[in-house]
Amino acid sequence: MEKLSNPQVTIEIIKKYNFAFQKKFGQNFLIDGHVINKIISAAEITKEDCVLEIGPGIGTMTQYLAEAAGHVCAVEIDKNLLPVLDETLAEYNNVTVINNDILKTDINEIVDKYNNGMPIKVVANLPYYITTPIIMGLFESHVPLLSVTVMVQKEVADRMQTGPGSKDYGALSLAVQYYAKPYIVANVPPNCFIPRPNVGSAVIRLTRYEEPPVIVQDEKLMFKLIRASFNQRRKTLQNGLANSSELSFSKEDIAEALEKMDLSPTVRGESLSLAEFATLSDILSGR
Ligand code: SAM
Repeated sequence: MEKLSNPQVTIEIIKKYNFAFQKKFGQNFLIDGHVINKIISAAEITKEDCVLEIGPGIGTMTQYLAEAAGHVCAVEIDKNLLPVLDETLAEYNNVTVINNDILKTDINEIVDKYNNGMPIKVVANLPYYITTPIIMGLFESHVPLLSVTVMVQKEVADRMQTGPGSKDYGALSLAVQYYAKPYIVANVPPNCFIPRPNVGSAVIRLTRYEEPPVIVQDEKLMFKLIRASFNQRRKTLQNGLANSSELSFSKEDIAEALEKMDLSPTVRGESLSLAEFATLSDILSGR
């Protein structure tokens, strides 16, 4: 069949199945083959790869992935899309469609079953309403993976890539950058989708580090410190951490730690780098 990246083919399939787009599932389907090729080449997909696609929709990118990869597992929540995918992916014998919520899917089980536990690549045009839980879930559950190459809201891509001092810098930047090296591949305008989203989009590749870029004694404590300092953005780091219900350090403990690090007592969380949060965490965990 002619590819779904041809908008006419997508429109015909949608009509044929009388498919109703569900806003609650973040359904914006790609209709641009150039964008899909960019995603696949940024992800460096080869026949050696097992790819996990999150939310195949009607199978537009899945068609390209099936041609480039060894195997594709596509997890789709909307059961109304299953008969559509049966037709649009009929000519590929290396695609497994799994009807499930990705946030409730045991991805480690998929990796074991379809790639003998070897690292996979994740490629997706993500449903934007759950971008952060999907990405953090992939990293925090320690799924063996090489990279995550995904379409996200432009603003979220910026947040993942940016460093201290920028208004976009926050807990997501630090969490992503602890696990992976981010690289924005392309900006994608709304007219590359049906229906058009009301925000700009970007493709970002997150290449998983084999070893984290900073060594920290207590990873959990570091992330608690990060969350607490960005929860109260307008406060000084000292007040933000001392007031956090997740932590039990006094203002004096924090003042002492900041002094050891040669940081001003009025420093704000958004000016600390990942390495500085790791140092702060190591000093405080020794208390
Ligand atoms: N990959 C297709 C494309 O590029 O045309 C569709 C992308 S669309 C932005 C997001 C897809 O994710 C939709 O098909 C939607 O139904 C699916 N989806 C939404 N929430 C999901 C969830 N929790 N688990 C799995 N799939 C989900």
